[in-house]
Amino acid sequence: MQNTCEIGNEMELSFDSRSSNEAFARVTIASFMTQLNPTLEEVSDVKTAVSEAVTNAIIHGYENTLHKVKIHAWIQGKTLWLEVADEGVGISDVKKAMEPLFTTRPELERSGMGFSFMEAFMDEIEVISEVGKGTTVRMKKTIGKGRELWTTQSL
Ligand code: ATP
Ligand code: MG
Repeated sequence: MQNTCEIGNEMELSFDSRSSNEAFARVTIASFMTQLNPTLEEVSDVKTAVSEAVTNAIIHGYENTLHKVKIHAWIQGKTLWLEVADEGVGISDVKKAMEPLFTTRPELERSGMGFSFMEAFMDEIEVISEVGKGTTVRMKKTIGKGRELWTTQSL
């Protein structure tokens, strides 16, 4: 059993790989993170990152076939951790896939910016993938960075 003292709060979500569930996933994570008292901008950043990762799982991982996308989210102190996972086709060259503007689906009018957005809006992102087994995108973001200092200084 996991030591609950080290984890402030934790949730898991499993849903069908339908694009209509992207909104459901992003709103669920936005709701989960409210306990960290985020700004609207921080919520919006996380929602964008969740959207990009879930879209990738649906269109690239599962190539629009029906399977489960899983999200594991947990909070440690002021840090939100997210894992978005699929058991789809996997990525053969993760480094290349993460380059800005790289896409394997230009015919779908993808711009190849999903990973770049995740990198920009979250503090850290790690992609674990195996061809034929699937992909897990792990991201973290510390909420309220710099705000405490600002509050102290402004008193
Ligand atoms: P955009 O996100 O701008 O619409 P995109 O999805 O192609 O375009 P990224 O999100 O940056 O761009 O992903 C880059 C590439 O990485 C994809 O084109 C795809 O080949 C691969 N990829 C990303 N996520 C997955 C995944 N979950 N499973 C398999 N391949 C993936
Ligand atoms: Mg994408």
